[in-house]
Amino acid sequence: MNSKTGVLHVVATPIGNLADLSPRAADVLRSVDLVLAEDTRQTGILLRHYDIRTPVIAFHEHNERKQSGALLDRIARGESMALVSDAGTPLISDPGYPLVSEARERGITVSPVPGPCALVAALSASGLPTDRFVFEGFVPPKAGARDSLIAQISREPATVVLYESSHRILNTLDAMAAHLGADRTIVIGREISKRFESFYRGDAATLRAHLEADSDRQRGEFVIMVEGAGPRDPAEDEIRRLLELLQPEMSHGAASRVAAEWFGIPRKRAYALGLARDRNGRSIWE
Ligand code: SAM
Repeated sequence: MNSKTGVLHVVATPIGNLADLSPRAADVLRSVDLVLAEDTRQTGILLRHYDIRTPVIAFHEHNERKQSGALLDRIARGESMALVSDAGTPLISDPGYPLVSEARERGITVSPVPGPCALVAALSASGLPTDRFVFEGFVPPKAGARDSLIAQISREPATVVLYESSHRILNTLDAMAAHLGADRTIVIGREISKRFESFYRGDAATLRAHLEADSDRQRGEFVIMVEGAGPRDPAEDEIRRLLELLQPEMSHGAASRVAAEWFGIPRKRAYALGLARDRNGRSIWE
């Protein structure tokens, strides 16, 4: 690589509130040779607001594969470019993956300018656990794919984050009510950082009723977050079967300890199951 190689900057832009563009993002957009924009009109609004006059070209999902090679050639020859999407962080449910992966393969410097991202903003204010989360992108529009994703989410122990649009939000909450029942808390972040920002919290059926009651609540952009599934409650039959196997080998206390460790349950519960009488009136430890 020659010493004049440029840089590909991946620049996060506001998700609804123009004031959320960072000073460094503005500096980078001002200083590069070219801005690659998902939608030139949308990015034009942002650039005009900050009086940034850098040339802008369209770079979106329909032309990104075709254009990437030539743009990276220009960067390799010394131009610097900034990749932006309509809102938030590029590549997060937005174009840019072919460009960035090819840039990395070619040894071109790729530098992020961190900033707004709907999923992180929503999660940070959700009140749901954030120590582990899974981002699934957009809920699939077709019912079959959507149902199988939600069935998978029903077993997911981490918080799940999804993007959804206004015209499908009620259908998605219906599917969640069917698969997740009432025992999983859902938080919806709507229109984050905008005038009508709202957060709704409850089980899927309650949230559906709440949104249906007022069509304004169905407008705008949504992040849906689903509380992770609790640890699986092992069936009593499985615990009793293990206690039966351990019974001839060790004391009741030791068997309870092993079963408690194996199933991740309190020792007292394992002990009580060993003592409990079955339908023939017999206990394991009789
Ligand atoms: N790259 C963006 C990011 O960093 O979040 C996401 C782009 S994706 C095409 C657009 C989706 O993100 C919307 O349909 C919505 O689900 C979510 N989203 C974007 N802005 C939002 C906002 N202000 N409030 C809630 N959700 C938003």
